[in-house]
Amino acid sequence: MQWDKLLANLLTGLIPVLPQLILIATVIVVIQSPLPGRGPRLFHGRDGWRLFKNGQRDLVMSRAGHRCEGAVFLVWGRCEKTAREADHVYPYARGGPTIPSNGQALCRGHNRHKGAMRPPWWYVLSLERRRRSYFPPGADVRIFATMSESDIQSRAAALGKKSPR
Ligand SMILES: [Zn+2]
Repeated sequence: MQWDKLLANLLTGLIPVLPQLILIATVIVVIQSPLPGRGPRLFHGRDGWRLFKNGQRDLVMSRAGHRCEGAVFLVWGRCEKTAREADHVYPYARGGPTIPSNGQALCRGHNRHKGAMRPPWWYVLSLERRRRSYFPPGADVRIFATMSESDIQSRAAALGKKSPR
């Protein structure tokens, strides 16, 4: 078998479909792209705080009306199920901090299905769009995976209340 000939034939065969391949690759890259400015800072490491607690969980659940914020029909509708878990929109394992602006209320099925998926732009924008119909008036529907000044302050206050080990 002459590998160089085989390779040459293969490449020659690819040339006619090259535009289609480039188009498919571009679509995949675009679909998987994150929304700029919303994700965790690069090389920031994990938040030392794993679970939503000290009122964070209640806030995430109550602003969603204790109903799952997951999508049905890809991005259009909203899941009908009762929310059971406060989930990190930007996964904890990928540097997403445990703060309300990075939290969403999910049913068990949606939480299991999502796993450690890093949310692409359309996931974040569709969640924010759904939220406009049910978030309390004045509540910020946007997802942010970096700590704001008020996040840092409320974290410090919560830690200060705990008895030292
Ligand atoms: Zn759900």
